Amino acid sequence: MTQDQFDVIVVGAGHAGCEAALAAARLGCTTLLTVINADTIGAMSCNPAIGGLAKGQLVREIDALGGEMAKNIDATSIQFRTLNTSKGPAVRSSRAQADRLLYRLRMKAVIEKQPGLSVKQTMVSGLIVDDGTVCGITTSLGERIIGKAVVVATGTFLNGLVHVGLKNFSAGRLGDAPSRKLAEWFRSNGFEMGRMKTGTVPRLDATTIDYSQLEAQHSDYPPAHFSFSSGGGYTLPQLPCYITYTNEKTHEIIRNSITESPLYAGVIQGVGARYCPSIEDKVMRFPEKDRHQIFVEPEGLDTVEIYPNGIPTSLPLATQQAMVNSIKGFEKAKIIRPGYAIEYDYIDPLGLHPSLETKMIRGLFLAGQINGTSGYEEAAAQGLVASINAVRYTRNQKPLVIDRSQAYIGVLIDDLVTCGTKEPYRLFTSRAEYRLLLREDNADARLAQTGFDIGLVTEENHKRYVAKQDAITRGIQLLENIFLRPQQAVNEALAALQSTPLKQKASLADLLRRPEITMGCLPSLPIAPEELAAVEALEKSGARNEIVLQIKFKGYIDRQQEQVSRFKKMESVLLPKDIDYSSLSGLSNEVVEKLTRVQPVSLGQASRISGVTPAAISVLQVHLRKLK
Ligand code: FAD
Repeated sequence: MTQDQFDVIVVGAGHAGCEAALAAARLGCTTLLTVINADTIGAMSCNPAIGGLAKGQLVREIDALGGEMAKNIDATSIQFRTLNTSKGPAVRSSRAQADRLLYRLRMKAVIEKQPGLSVKQTMVSGLIVDDGTVCGITTSLGERIIGKAVVVATGTFLNGLVHVGLKNFSAGRLGDAPSRKLAEWFRSNGFEMGRMKTGTVPRLDATTIDYSQLEAQHSDYPPAHFSFSSGGGYTLPQLPCYITYTNEKTHEIIRNSITESPLYAGVIQGVGARYCPSIEDKVMRFPEKDRHQIFVEPEGLDTVEIYPNGIPTSLPLATQQAMVNSIKGFEKAKIIRPGYAIEYDYIDPLGLHPSLETKMIRGLFLAGQINGTSGYEEAAAQGLVASINAVRYTRNQKPLVIDRSQAYIGVLIDDLVTCGTKEPYRLFTSRAEYRLLLREDNADARLAQTGFDIGLVTEENHKRYVAKQDAITRGIQLLENIFLRPQQAVNEALAALQSTPLKQKASLADLLRRPEITMGCLPSLPIAPEELAAVEALEKSGARNEIVLQIKFKGYIDRQQEQVSRFKKMESVLLPKDIDYSSLSGLSNEVVEKLTRVQPVSLGQASRISGVTPAAISVLQVHLRKLK
C-alpha cells in the first residue's frame, strides 16, 4: 500500500521532532510528523522545566534561529528564574518551570495549525532506502510513505526497557510503547549502536506534602522570558517551588535496599550520565554527604502532581515510598507515579556529518536523544538543525553548519560528530571555549541573521533584531563620546559614588568599566542636559543590559574575538573528502583509524579529535600544501 509523498518526514514528536517538523513546514516543505501516540506530542518525559545552565543559552539560540521552544515555554511557564546572577555574564542562564500539560498542548496546537505539516499516529518500523539514499518510511501497519528526506528523532524509545526495582518491561518511557522494529532496522543496516540509561523521580501528591516545613523559592519578579519576540508579560500565574533534603534515615533505607537496585544488581547494562546520578548512586558514591537537596517543583497549575527534583531512582516501589516518607515535609506524601530508570539504544553520533545527516545513508538525518544526548534543549537544537539541513538537502543547497564560536548549538553538534559520546551528553558552559561570546542575551546577535537568511525568522522579528542591534551600537557610541575632565565637580560626584577621582579625561564608557559604576550612576555625574537626557533614555531602553555588558567586558570580549579569528583560520582549511589517511606517512594507526572514522571536514575539526596530536596536524598541513 503506497500513501502520500512528502518532502520531509519526521519520525518522533518529542522536542527534536517538534522543532524539526515545524522548521521543515515553515521553510515550505510538505512535511509529515509521525508519532506513536499523538496525545504525547511535545511531551516532557522527565522534569517539567526548560533551560538551566548552558541550556538556557540553547533555548535562546533556537529562538534566534526561528524555532518554537522559547515561545512555548514563555506561554506555559509557571516559574522563571535567572541562574548564576551573582556570577559573570558568560554563565548566567534562564530556567523556567513549565505547566507540563499546557506545554505539550500548546506545542501540539502550534503543530496542528502549521500549514504544510501533517501529523500521523503510527509506529515507524523501518526506512526505505534506494542506492544509499533514503526515500521514505515503512510502518507497522504495512504502509510505505515516500519522503525525499527523513529526520529520525525517536528519543529513548529504541528498544526501551523500563526498570523499577528488579522488575523490568519494554517501554519507550513509562506508559508508552517501545520502538523495537526500527531499532532492529538500524542495527541490521550497519549503524553502530550502544546502550544508555537515564532515570526519573517518583511524582508525589501535593495534597499529602507538609509545605509548612519547607523553604519556599519564588519566581524572579518580574519574570523574564526566553523568546526575543515574546515581548515580556506572562499569561500564567507564577508559583513557588520549595526546597527540602534527604537525611541519614533516607540514606539508610537506600543502603538497605541496594541489592534490589537494578543498577547495583547489574541488571542495567546501559551507561548513565555521571552528572545526573540516581539518589541511590549519590548515596553510595558520596557516603560522606549527610544530605542531598531536593527541589519540590509543581507540575502545573491544575494538577496535584509534584516533581521532587533530586531523587531519580529505580529502587522498588516500596523502597521509594519509604525513602520519600523519611524526608522532611514528605512524611505523609503519597507517590502518584513511581520513579524508574530506562535503558535504550542510541546511535553513535560519529556516524553523522556536521549537518546531522548520516554518513551511511544520504537524506537521512538523526536528531535528539537517539544521538546519545540527554535533555529537551539539546534535542530541540538538533531537531532544528537536522531539519534545516534536510530541507536544504532536498533543494541541493549547502548544509548549514553552525560552528563552536557562533553558538552552543555549534559546540553540541561539533562535540557529538567529532568526539562521539559513550554516556548521555549534556551541555555545560565549560564545554564552550568562547563562552563570554556565547551569552544568552546576545543569541539574537549571533544567529538571527542566519535564521532570517534561511527563511525561518519572520520579517517582523528580523526588523526588531536590526533595531535592537542599531540601538546597541548607538548606545555604545554615545557613552564612548561623552567625556568628563578631571575637574572638581566630576571628582566630587565620583567620590559620592565611592569611585576614585579622574586623573585624565575619560568617557562615560571608561567610567562604566569601573566595577563600582553602574549605568544607574551615570546621570549623577555632571554632564550637559542634552547628554543627560540621552543617557537617561538609554537607561530605560531594551538594549541597556547588552550595552553595559559590551562596555564592561570589552577587554575580555576582544581577547576572545582574537581567539575566534585563530579558530576560524583552522576551520577554513578544508580537508578533501576522499583523503586516504593510511597513505600518509607519519600518522599512527590510531590517528589513521580516527580520522578515517570521523572524516573531519576541516583541519580545525581534525585537531579536536581525541588522540589526533599536533604532530599529526602538521602531517596533514604538509599533505594539503602538496595538493595545492
Ligand atoms: P523524546 O522526547 O523521547 O521523543 C521521542 C518521540 O519519538 C516520541 O514522540 C515517540 O512517540 C516517537 N517515536 C519513537 N519511536 C517511534 C517510531 N518508531 N515511530 C514513530 N514515532 C516514534 N533529560 C535530562 O536532561 N535530564 C534528565 O534527568 C532526564 N531524565 C529522563 C528520564 C527519563 C525516564 C526519560 C524517559 C528521559 C529523561 N531525560 C532527561 C531525557 C529527555 O526526556 C530527553 O532528552 C528528551 O525528551 C529527548 O527528546 P527527543 O525529541 O530526542 O525524544
